[in-house]
Amino acid sequence: MSKKYDVVVIGAGPAGYIAAIRAAQHGLKTACIDEWQNRDGKYAFGGTCLNAGCIPSKALLESSELYHRAQHEFKKHGISTGDVNMDIAGMQKRRAGIVRQLTGGIAGLFKANKVDGLVGHGKLLTDRQVEFTPVDGEPEIIDAKHVILASGSAPIELPFAKFDGVDIVDSWDALEFDAIPERMGVIGAGVIGLELGSVWARLGSKVTILEAMGDFLFMADRDVASVAGKDFKKQGLDIRLGAKVTSATVTDGVVTVAYDDAQGSQRIEVDKLVVAVGRRPYTDGLFSEDSGIATDGRGFIEVDDECRTRVKEVYAIGDCVRGPMLAHKGSEEGVMVADLIAGELAEVNYNVIPSVIYTAPEIAWVGKTEAEVQQSGRPYKTGSFPFAASGRAKAMEQTTGMVKVIAAEDDDEILGVHIVGPMAGELIGEAVLALEFSASTEDIQRTIHAHPSLSEAVHEAALAADKRALNYMNR
Ligand SMILES: Cc1cc2nc3c(=O)[nH]c(=O)nc-3n(C[C@H](O)[C@H](O)[C@H](O)COP(=O)(O)OP(=O)(O)OC[C@H]3O[C@@H](n4cnc5c(N)ncnc54)[C@H](O)[C@@H]3O)c2cc1C
Repeated sequence: MSKKYDVVVIGAGPAGYIAAIRAAQHGLKTACIDEWQNRDGKYAFGGTCLNAGCIPSKALLESSELYHRAQHEFKKHGISTGDVNMDIAGMQKRRAGIVRQLTGGIAGLFKANKVDGLVGHGKLLTDRQVEFTPVDGEPEIIDAKHVILASGSAPIELPFAKFDGVDIVDSWDALEFDAIPERMGVIGAGVIGLELGSVWARLGSKVTILEAMGDFLFMADRDVASVAGKDFKKQGLDIRLGAKVTSATVTDGVVTVAYDDAQGSQRIEVDKLVVAVGRRPYTDGLFSEDSGIATDGRGFIEVDDECRTRVKEVYAIGDCVRGPMLAHKGSEEGVMVADLIAGELAEVNYNVIPSVIYTAPEIAWVGKTEAEVQQSGRPYKTGSFPFAASGRAKAMEQTTGMVKVIAAEDDDEILGVHIVGPMAGELIGEAVLALEFSASTEDIQRTIHAHPSLSEAVHEAALAADKRALNYMNR
């Protein structure tokens, strides 16, 4: 007899494992299937985010940032250290330990919430039947009342710079280098390219980032992108815009990268080339042809606003469907779908999804950029406050950047908040809450912010929108 579940989730990344836990919390009999295998041969829950994305990248960003600060900032604090050395094996051991703890934590959460975590491949057939092939066993059929597809994404490969796992690599490989490449090339100055470029540049690599677009961080507010671009340059990141890579060839461990820019044909030589040009939805072997699931021209599973596919009681969430490829977006879709299955009202507010780039300075935003507000035709006002005027930022020796608030001229509603500077990824939380509650700048202006704190910069930027900044000259 086949096994029966109320909910079967395929994929245990941040979208799938959260959906499974939430469904089980509703009292639904739930299984979550995943086949992720790490480089050490071990299977682990957590998907890209925990194993090869968000978490390991932040671990390395932290280590490399501390190394950089020990070399360049400690003196200003009066701390002398002698030579500061980096032990790459030690750094990587810490990264792997954090990943192991967190992925093991999901297995623990599954147990605590009575989710059956199944290790192996899942494939949706017809009539909500799922074929489950355990990693060490024969396929079996599971009957599900509801199925949630959460199969995630995979790095995009360029036909003229194919991954070889050694010299031309994807972001996962670049997180696991066991030595500092003397010269590193990155194709793509997006979030992943900038984060990985920062890690290895701080550790001593000469990093060149080639970006096909002419605008730096085209998706960010122009003021924020301009501050960040200048600071990255100062840090030694060589970011070349309008550089369209045409080929990458490897000879004796040296990668020659050819690209075209406004000046003509160029080439650089590097020891490692990281291709970080984006990710594609991953749906290989996920559903049978007769399952009824449809994908769009770019391979994303077609869903409506509530993540329903064309097949009754089959949902899809996370990176394998439209919208920003972000862990927290996938998790919120997971919560929504589990609540809908349980018969509750639920929705995801796609207008209020924060974006964070964990470089130094960090970059974070929520809502509309100034260009987007301008385009909408709605009259607006802006207020900015530089971290150079923040006592806490000065004490931290991190005064680069600012907070910028954009609000409607008529009813004062906050339309967007953009931050570049220390802890921007943490500060944006207040702005996300403000937008979620349709707050006005006056709401933030009248909210007491602790002194001295970085959050005062958000307060002052909201005040500045009405030319009422108290610790900076109004313009
Ligand atoms: C280097 C890097 C850094 C990143 N940093 C951030 C960040 O700081 N913040 C952020 O929000 N996002 C970040 N991301 C993006 C984030 O990792 C993804 O948005 C997120 O992991 C998507 O979650 P998901 O659950 O949809 O898919 P995934 O995390 O990709 O998980 C999908 C899971 O499904 C499994 N699977 C697929 N098909 C099957 C099948 N048929 N059977 C069984 N199992 C299957 C896979 O094994 C995988 O475990 C980063 C990504 C990268 C690469």
